[in-house]
Amino acid sequence: MIYIRRIPLPVALAERLLVLTGLIPMSTARQLWNRSRVERRGLRDALNTMAPGHQRCMYCGDSEGTSVDHFEPIARNPMRTFDWLNHLLACSFCNSNQKGSRYPVDDAGRPLLIDPTVDDPFDHLMLSLSVGEYRARTPKGAATLDVLALNRAVLVRGRQHARDVVGQALRMWRSAQKVGDGREQARQIRTIRMQPLADVYHAMLRYALSDNAPLLFAGDADLITILRDPELRSSL
Ligand SMILES: [Zn+2]
Repeated sequence: MIYIRRIPLPVALAERLLVLTGLIPMSTARQLWNRSRVERRGLRDALNTMAPGHQRCMYCGDSEGTSVDHFEPIARNPMRTFDWLNHLLACSFCNSNQKGSRYPVDDAGRPLLIDPTVDDPFDHLMLSLSVGEYRARTPKGAATLDVLALNRAVLVRGRQHARDVVGQALRMWRSAQKVGDGREQARQIRTIRMQPLADVYHAMLRYALSDNAPLLFAGDADLITILRDPELRSSL
């Protein structure tokens, strides 16, 4: 999971969502939502623009985001059904199989789930690059791992693979840089950015700057220098 910058909605769509929110007391929120095809398409377009890679799920980062997820579920707070700040793009597994209507909160009623458009997930989670598994750094991180099953086997294997692909692309980027081949450099940057599981290269960029980098990149120490290169960092 990575931080995602939320974009503003087109004014006409934002106004329409306000009108629909005003209708909720007269209808059930779920019915209104299901009927609002045009608005849902508009929301999907905006979320697709924000999503990492090729419209990946904002929770797992692996699968195609196929659903507009209500971060705070409709069943818990119907008045947020059409609240743009409550909409995320999720794959069907994260949305239906895992999250569903689960929405853990702390004693003060604050969500114990990471909202990637509000929180920086790396404040709450630590990704082991060698194993491909997350470890919780905070109670919010622990609850998010549990609700979304972010250490499910397919994601762990995928992150191991993504680390290898990104490592290879970084080395090819460096070789292209040495011979001044800007086109090849841009190609390798695209490869990295469009990979599923963007959390892996985001973690690599961060951990390369840490004092523990030699430990975290054991076996791939050459990547640390590449990941610290200001030209690379400004491209990613
Ligand atoms: Zn997902």
